[in-house]
Amino acid sequence: MKPLRLLLLGAPGSGKGTQTSKVLKDFTHIKAISSGDILRQQINAQTNIGKEISRYIKNGSLVPDEIMARLLETELQRRQWLNRDASWLLDGFPRTFTQASILDEVLGKSGANLNQVVELDVDQKVILQRIEARWIHLPSGRVYNLDYNPPKVPFKDDVTGEPLSKRSDDNAETFQKRLDIYNGEIGPLRDYYKQKNIFHTISGNSSDIIYPQLSRYLSEKFAS
Ligand code: ATP
Ligand code: MG
Repeated sequence: MKPLRLLLLGAPGSGKGTQTSKVLKDFTHIKAISSGDILRQQINAQTNIGKEISRYIKNGSLVPDEIMARLLETELQRRQWLNRDASWLLDGFPRTFTQASILDEVLGKSGANLNQVVELDVDQKVILQRIEARWIHLPSGRVYNLDYNPPKVPFKDDVTGEPLSKRSDDNAETFQKRLDIYNGEIGPLRDYYKQKNIFHTISGNSSDIIYPQLSRYLSEKFAS
């Protein structure tokens, strides 16, 4: 396969994390970073930066672009992803126009620009209904839904058996705020990536409808 450098966009709760796990299973040469997971791990480890970002996340605001960009650049370097042969997927970053410009500058230096952006288009009423049933395994970022995708043992991670937790920002009020922010930021991002001819939308109200389309699209696009 040709190198794939993919950004997954989509409203909070649209299933980016679920789609990411499925991609990693089927496309074994691809690795992924989830911005939300990185932030929650910082908070969990009670680092200085973790303390600073926890208040943004708790009330559903975005973490400031400079902090976010710095964290991501460090992570990309640590993983040695800044080279043109690398294949990877970003979930949740960039999510503002400013972040997109910073990322392009960082990637451009190594010739490893994003070559695909996919937006998951899910009905926001459906998202609101299912968010209260979401539980996560914090260390791995694995996502469960008590209704659609329950863990094998209630409230325990399937792989490690460790307890699942509820995200502090997955309640109706904070969630609506996150949706509103997403809707405010997505227009300029969409336009930016459309202009680069790398933007594609996949619609559907469940991961079982979205994933086959995503998998087919990536296979066709990046088969060599
Ligand atoms: P979901 O995980 O359901 O797709 P989401 O995209 O809102 O929803 P995460 O990506 O896990 O959730 O992010 C959770 C929170 O972390 C965001 O509400 C925001 O506060 C912060 N965050 C994550 N990524 C970024 C980013 N790129 N820029 C600024 N803040 C971010
Ligand atoms: Mg996520």
